[in-house]
Amino acid sequence: MCYKYLWDTLVVDGFFAEQFFNFFPLNQYNLLSKEIREETTKSGFPAKTLEDMVRQYRTACSMLPLAQDQLLLRYESQKDQSVLAEYQFAYDSDWLKKQLQSSLEFWTGKREANYTPEEERWKCQHCQFESVCPGNPKPNTSQGSPRPDRTPVSPRPDRMPGSPPRSTPVRLSKFFE
Ligand code: SF4
Repeated sequence: MCYKYLWDTLVVDGFFAEQFFNFFPLNQYNLLSKEIREETTKSGFPAKTLEDMVRQYRTACSMLPLAQDQLLLRYESQKDQSVLAEYQFAYDSDWLKKQLQSSLEFWTGKREANYTPEEERWKCQHCQFESVCPGNPKPNTSQGSPRPDRTPVSPRPDRMPGSPPRSTPVRLSKFFE
């Protein structure tokens, strides 16, 4: 449902280029590398700078139709792309907004993490905290402490999930001249 929301928002509201350039931060006037310029020409959307590329992107987005309300979730094998399972379901914008709101409250430090829902407790078998978490219905107490081979992930309220720290330069050497 997130993908439909992102898609529809791009089509209706467009891409917020200024926010994108400021957040990372990027110089929109930098010349793209020769390799990237050739690729953009081959794709039919020639661009010399990041600004050109974003302009092409915005134009393309404005011509796209909204995604359908009937959605299809398909799991494919990474080995041979065979279909493992498919589920059809209807888009529910109210449900999605509640999920996003709840996630944002966690990522901005306004609430603690929740235990995995009852119906998804099978995930606990693969969790690094399985031996110590009160939410795990079948704790493996022989381990006594979280598995040391993985580092717990903590909320990072100062940046978007998955983004680099703002003080870390984004490595785009292949992208620009
Ligand atoms: S063990 Fe605890 S933290 Fe890990 S998935 Fe289960 S409920 Fe979540």
